[in-house]
Amino acid sequence: MQRGQPQPDSDPLAQFLDAVRRPLEFLAGARAEAAARTHVPGRELAARGRAVRTRLPAGRRREQFEALCARLEQIEEADPARRRVLATECRDLLADLASPNSAVDPEPTYRATGHELTTALSTLARPVQYAKEVGPRRAEQLRKFGIETVEDLLYHLPFRYEDRRRVRQIAELQIGEEASIAGELVQLSDRTVGRGRRRILEGVLRDATGLLGLTWYNQVVYFRSRHRVGQRLLVYGRVERSPGGGKRITHPEIDVGGDESAGQGILPVYEKPTSMTVGTIRKIVQQAARDSADLVPSVLPESITGSARLMDAGAALRALHLPDPDADVDRLNRFGSPAHRALVFDELFFLQLGMGLRRRQVADESGFALPRRGGLTDRLAALLPFALTGAQRRVVEQLYADLARPHPMHRLLQGDVGSGKTVVGLFAALVAIENDCQAAFMAPTELLAEQHYATISSFAEQLGVRAALLTGEAARGGRKRLHGALESGEIQLAVGTHALIQEGVRMPALGLGIVDEQHRFGVLQRAAMLRRLRGEDSGRSPHILLMSATPIPRTLAMTIYGDLDVSILDELPPGRQPVRTMVFSEAERGRVYQLVRQELDRGRQGYVVYPLIEASEKEDLRDATSMARELGQTVFAGYRVGLLHGKMKSNEKDAIMQRFRSGDLQLLFSTTVIEVGVDVPNASVMVVEHADRFGLSQLHQLRGRVGRGSDHALCLLVAPYHRGEDVYRRLKAMRDTTDGFKIAEVDLELRGPGEFLGTRQHGLPDFRVSNLIRDTRTLAEARDAAERWLALDPTLGAPESASLRAILTHRWKGRLGLAEIG
Ligand code: ADP
Ligand code: MG
Repeated sequence: MQRGQPQPDSDPLAQFLDAVRRPLEFLAGARAEAAARTHVPGRELAARGRAVRTRLPAGRRREQFEALCARLEQIEEADPARRRVLATECRDLLADLASPNSAVDPEPTYRATGHELTTALSTLARPVQYAKEVGPRRAEQLRKFGIETVEDLLYHLPFRYEDRRRVRQIAELQIGEEASIAGELVQLSDRTVGRGRRRILEGVLRDATGLLGLTWYNQVVYFRSRHRVGQRLLVYGRVERSPGGGKRITHPEIDVGGDESAGQGILPVYEKPTSMTVGTIRKIVQQAARDSADLVPSVLPESITGSARLMDAGAALRALHLPDPDADVDRLNRFGSPAHRALVFDELFFLQLGMGLRRRQVADESGFALPRRGGLTDRLAALLPFALTGAQRRVVEQLYADLARPHPMHRLLQGDVGSGKTVVGLFAALVAIENDCQAAFMAPTELLAEQHYATISSFAEQLGVRAALLTGEAARGGRKRLHGALESGEIQLAVGTHALIQEGVRMPALGLGIVDEQHRFGVLQRAAMLRRLRGEDSGRSPHILLMSATPIPRTLAMTIYGDLDVSILDELPPGRQPVRTMVFSEAERGRVYQLVRQELDRGRQGYVVYPLIEASEKEDLRDATSMARELGQTVFAGYRVGLLHGKMKSNEKDAIMQRFRSGDLQLLFSTTVIEVGVDVPNASVMVVEHADRFGLSQLHQLRGRVGRGSDHALCLLVAPYHRGEDVYRRLKAMRDTTDGFKIAEVDLELRGPGEFLGTRQHGLPDFRVSNLIRDTRTLAEARDAAERWLALDPTLGAPESASLRAILTHRWKGRLGLAEIG
């Protein structure tokens, strides 16, 4: 029996844990379709659990148990994607609870670093070549692999662990289990399979009890050259049934001559440069851990380490690279060991500390107090053809309060597509103008800037506010004059693209900068540039409002926008009906066109979106230009169709948008230029061709172009019939929900945080040990701890914070510019 399984006995607690384990494991590992079909009676299970919880003494295990019950309770109602997340969390909690170690888990001890930090840090920062076992050649290989310093080596954690504590006999192996086997290679040959196109290598390993097949499909030549009949091998891998009967392992991990090392305990396995063997990288890293792990500073204050139950970084690194023979392999493999948690906490604590510090610095900078005076804002409220939603009113009030303070606002407004962010921004801009300041409104695309300008300028005119549009093209003619008018303050409200922040543009009276953009385009940098519009030497910073069209899950917001205050528009204007989304295969296109015609015949308008502007040699995809021509003469003959894409001249785009907005054009063939912000409430149908080619948040943005009126709307996604798992999940998420936050969660799960965020663009330090999906619980704890500390010492100026500050500087290397902002 494996370690970690509870003894079957009559203990009701153990029985309960046993009963919930299977369904949770199944659900956690299930594919999307299976997860959707699986019913888990979560509420009933939670009730059963709560009935036996008193069998656990109050304390950490009881807390874990409560957390398990709470998740079980939610699992029944949750949508499939969320259900899997919950099941995974439950499974981990369960494993912790069932683990005999956790019952006797000694309270980890945290030995704070005694030595002087500067020397230790500079030793850790030395090039990897100074580590033992590493000469110039290996150093070069490691460097190319991204490991440059001794510290990088220490934080190169194993991605998995092999249990070599027991070498198994071939006769006792079960299909499906992972095992180590020692034996002699008695046969090795390669052959070609599948119409002579593919070479495979096959070997046979013998021990005293039987024969085991070994199979390689990749790198055949390499393995052929490495092994010879007669070699003693220690192999490790998952046992399968071979096609000819018997047992085999495909692509086994191999230690040549390693059978003496059998029983060597738990072996860490590392990612490595291809030119290095598994054994070499292990030797290098383990040596570094022995020599240098204790140099890694552990400087968290006792008030934190005690309540968070942490061990110091040195002990954690040693536990991960040189695991104790009694360690819990399952937990190590789940990245859930106490050592993992300690390092994750450490990393996230410093991240949150940096964010929190920066937020406080911004809050202390000197800025302009811009109290609402009422002249313009009251008149705008009267001019609007609608009443603000409750959420809009709440956020507008928040903005008024921020603007009235003599420190710059640094706020993120999150709201799903269509939640009405623009008008909220406009109210804030008017407050600035009421105070004789200028405001700038920056959009990510020309199309959107023009649209904002169209909306805003009509109000501006009625209010007597002087507004101007500044885009790359629009500026060309009267650029000089426009720049002059911005500089003199004649223009009070500038709407534009990145042309706003280009060389030569100055707005000395800028009181508020608004950036309307999706997070992935590097909003923060642009905000920083906006702040500079006033001029470097003005000494005071304008207020900044960021608007994110792509909602991001809370945990991520806490991390990447941890230095901003956040407002959320969580209400759509009244009367909106959720867009109905349907997925079609290519063969069903006729039906799609029919649905589009139906909408057009009802007097509504529509979009057809393609991934390409025009036909491409490289890819066999439909494109907007050809399809507009072809379909305009066939399927949509008699309808007024237009074409819009990013390569068109700005005035052509303008003209087309104008005709579409006025209803002159009924159907717009387009590319993703319409992705962000385009707002034509009469549009009620959108077709996305090759929907499999688009990312989830992109699809969600596109869909946001319809359903902006009070009537029903349709989104028709066309994709090949054969869809990969990822594509399937994306399209299904689109069909199942219109909630941007849920979409973002699935997107994050599918793409992983790195790609989802483009973290590099944010200037965030890379995560060495944390994973924002896996480590959400630790993230929340680390954030709380950082906030508690900053509440006591907001500038980290106290002597007790000196080493925290030193580490902070070391970790962030000025990347977020702690002293200066932006
Ligand atoms: P987004 O948050 O996606 O930027 P917009 O600001 O473009 O949304 O607003 C979407 C549409 O909703 C616009 O046509 C806007 O005029 C309209 N709108 C905004 N607020 C309200 C409201 N409170 N009631 C009705 N319609 C509104
Ligand atoms: Mg918008």
